[in-house]
Amino acid sequence: MLSDFYRDTWVEVNLDAITHNVLSMKKHIGEQVDIIAVVKANGYGHGAVQVAKTALDVGASMLAVAFLDEAIALRKAGIDAPILVMGATRPSDVEVAIQFNITLTVFSIDWLMEANQFISSDKVHLHIKVDTGMGRLGVREKDELRRIFSYQESSSHFEIDGIFTHFATADENDSLYFVEQYEKFEELLTTIPHQQLLVHCANSAAALKYQRKLYNAIRLGISMYGLTPSIEMKQELPFELKEAFSLQTKLVHVKKISKGEKVSYGATYEAKEDEWIGTIPIGYADGWIRRLKDFEVLVGNTRAPLVGRICMDQCMVKLPNHIPVGTKVTLIGEQNGHVISIDDVAKRLDTINYEVPCMITLRVPRIFL
Ligand code: PLP
Repeated sequence: MLSDFYRDTWVEVNLDAITHNVLSMKKHIGEQVDIIAVVKANGYGHGAVQVAKTALDVGASMLAVAFLDEAIALRKAGIDAPILVMGATRPSDVEVAIQFNITLTVFSIDWLMEANQFISSDKVHLHIKVDTGMGRLGVREKDELRRIFSYQESSSHFEIDGIFTHFATADENDSLYFVEQYEKFEELLTTIPHQQLLVHCANSAAALKYQRKLYNAIRLGISMYGLTPSIEMKQELPFELKEAFSLQTKLVHVKKISKGEKVSYGATYEAKEDEWIGTIPIGYADGWIRRLKDFEVLVGNTRAPLVGRICMDQCMVKLPNHIPVGTKVTLIGEQNGHVISIDDVAKRLDTINYEVPCMITLRVPRIFL
């Protein structure tokens, strides 16, 4: 029988959790502030199209991605909501953005002047990115901002609809640098008439923490997926976030090995006694990287350790007893009251939660609940 996929490893994305997180945020920031749902990087690994549709259904007014290709993919999937490309687009590709009705980011006067040479007919919609301290992309000086604004006023090829900045430290307890950036943004805004523009600066952290300072839209990323922007923010969340992402697999082979027998490449694991070993079909090519060796999974009502090196497509679990082939194994998520969260995996890998769903590769099918 034909199916969408044939492997016993999959990601479950709970779209009700996305709905909950978007609605809770909307309630938190108030009706007058729009939500721009950030669905770059395939919706932080969750599935951009489904997350985008869900967010739009429950009140997001715009989508944001990093690259033009990501925006085009959303259009091709039938999404006609406004989409902002927040990263740099080649000036030579502006006609493509016009063709797909995608809003681009202008981050320097040079970009604008170069883009002008590539537009023959219509106009491209733009948001201006100002760099208030992230040091990544954006206009830094008032004079350049003024020049960008007057250049578009005198051109029939550009329509500036918005202006934004991005915070570097909104998730940290110390708000000093955040306030500096915010004040620089305020100051830069005085340079141009912005009353008609969509003005946005807050990411998830700023929206969760600094409710009164949001202008007329926020860009909601990590917390739409139910994750807290930083560990320190976990203590002070204004509402519950529900994690949408879980990673599941199944035992495909179960065997008893004898004391002294070895498991996996390098034969580094040696059974200390007679042990039940299960094989699961997930490995580093799926993003379950070798550094997760010895990490735990949930199976048969308990936590069980991975043993031996993680292979490209498979790894092995030490089971507490015989557990039948076909039994579900949870690598991220909840099973029988036990939880392995994305934050647990991030901690183990000494990284941030953002990276974890992004690192689970497209080889792992996403199922939407
Ligand atoms: N805005 C910009 C420019 C971003 O790069 C990102 C994500 O990195 C976001 C908004 C969303 O941030 P967060 O996921 O922390 O909500």
